[in-house]
Amino acid sequence: MAKRKELRYKKIKLKLKIRLPEKIRVFFWEAGAKVIFVTDTFLDKVDDFLKEIVEDIKEIIGAGAEGAVDLGAAIIRWYDKSAEVVEWFVKKTTVIIMREYHDLLINLAKHRKAIVKECIIVLLVGVGAVAIFASAIDYEYAYNGKTLGIVKEQRDVLEILEMVSDELSLEYGSKIAIDPETDITFKPVISSGKDIDDADTVLRRFTYMGDIKAQAFSIIVDGETAVTVENERIAKDVLEEIKDFYTNDSDTEYEYVGFVEDVKIEACSTTLANISSKSAAVSKIRSGGQQESTYTVKSGDTLYGICEKLGVSLKELKGMNPGLNDNATLHVGDKFVTQQEIPLITVETIGVSVFAEATDYETITKESSSYYKGETVVVQAGKQGKARVTARLTKHNGQTVAREDISVETITEPVNKIIAKGTKPVPPKKGTGVLRKPVNASVYAGYGMRWGRMHYGLDYAAPTGTPIYAADGGTVTKAGWSGAYGYVVVIDHGGNMKTLYAHCSKMYVSAGTQVYKGQVIAAVGSTGRSTGPHCHFEVFVNGKNVNPAYYV
Ligand SMILES: [Zn+2]
Repeated sequence: MAKRKELRYKKIKLKLKIRLPEKIRVFFWEAGAKVIFVTDTFLDKVDDFLKEIVEDIKEIIGAGAEGAVDLGAAIIRWYDKSAEVVEWFVKKTTVIIMREYHDLLINLAKHRKAIVKECIIVLLVGVGAVAIFASAIDYEYAYNGKTLGIVKEQRDVLEILEMVSDELSLEYGSKIAIDPETDITFKPVISSGKDIDDADTVLRRFTYMGDIKAQAFSIIVDGETAVTVENERIAKDVLEEIKDFYTNDSDTEYEYVGFVEDVKIEACSTTLANISSKSAAVSKIRSGGQQESTYTVKSGDTLYGICEKLGVSLKELKGMNPGLNDNATLHVGDKFVTQQEIPLITVETIGVSVFAEATDYETITKESSSYYKGETVVVQAGKQGKARVTARLTKHNGQTVAREDISVETITEPVNKIIAKGTKPVPPKKGTGVLRKPVNASVYAGYGMRWGRMHYGLDYAAPTGTPIYAADGGTVTKAGWSGAYGYVVVIDHGGNMKTLYAHCSKMYVSAGTQVYKGQVIAAVGSTGRSTGPHCHFEVFVNGKNVNPAYYV
């Protein structure tokens, strides 16, 4: 199949190579002639259309001021109509060209001159019509819905605003800000030409527009005007948008969405300067309120860092905190008074949410005769569980204020923390003469010569933190740092016997503490000269090292 296509393609290509120039020439003139006939009809249609426009304009002028509304509608109708005519023309000519393709050999070269003439006429008429139509359109410009005037081009307004909008905003204080993107709208109109504003007039209109009286709609919160917008629809949209911020959780079925405050929309008479655009109104409602709050200094805070965090200048912070100066030393826990931006409206939502939640474990203390009195040992670490909760949550601006659990389904059970509380009577805090192992681990290096030097103890390898027990009862004579030993504990058991425990990570006793045999005195570590966590254990008799292996 593909091969046959390829063959046919090559054949046609060869044919075309020979006859293409002549064929193409003839084709275009042939098609061109047909197009001219269609063009005649097209011009008739355009003529009808222009007559229609003239009728519309007459009617609009006759209607006077009320006609202005009709004008907008008429423009849209004209635009649709012209699109229809153009579409008809394109369809028609396409059909002709397709038909002509089958009839390429007919020579119409004699019509050449006539065709060229017609084409030029069509072209000129087309260009002229477009130019006339385009030049007839002017633009009415408005600030937040209030019409200010008419200009020839949109850029006549935008260029002026670009230059002076900052100054104008300053002129009206924080009351007015001109954002050409949202505040300025344009509407195409056909004007008589007399009312077109020049640059001076545009500037004057913007300079004085703040004082223009305007009918608008206010959003009233608990009797006070929060924001004022151009019309009721925008006011409703603003409130909907405020609600939308807190109703976008896909895991919640909302049962109620409303406002905590009494919120109303009311018509009002105001000046243009008081009217906000929709986006400005939304942000004013979301952050227009001020609430005094305190900031507590955290570790690592700097004065400038705090200002940045709170969104205030140093001057403002100083204003709210007399006595604060640039060189003040900050202390963790110091408090500053600050203003916090809060919404003017509180959105209350009630909805059923499904969410995962950690469940707490219980701590159970059990008495145990395995441990001495006074000892508490964690025998099982606690671990939080996980649950799937379905609850009806009442939220104010997204913060939960009330919760009613509907169902709690356990995903994983928590593991209780178990603490053993020793009950075994504490042995006398003095030596018995019989030693026990200091660590529940095995010896990996014994007493004797090692690497060419004497090793005076036994090494018990165990993870850091493993308890070290007193080998016998007695009195602690040393608990502290000692060079190569690191943290070391020495116990005098009486009867001229002492024991030593080195490289500890932690020590639970101090010099003078009386201990009983088996009491936890320290934890295994790797302090001092050590290559890994272990307890180095020595035994002294009459002040001399002996091999501990003979005693434990
Ligand atoms: Zn050792």
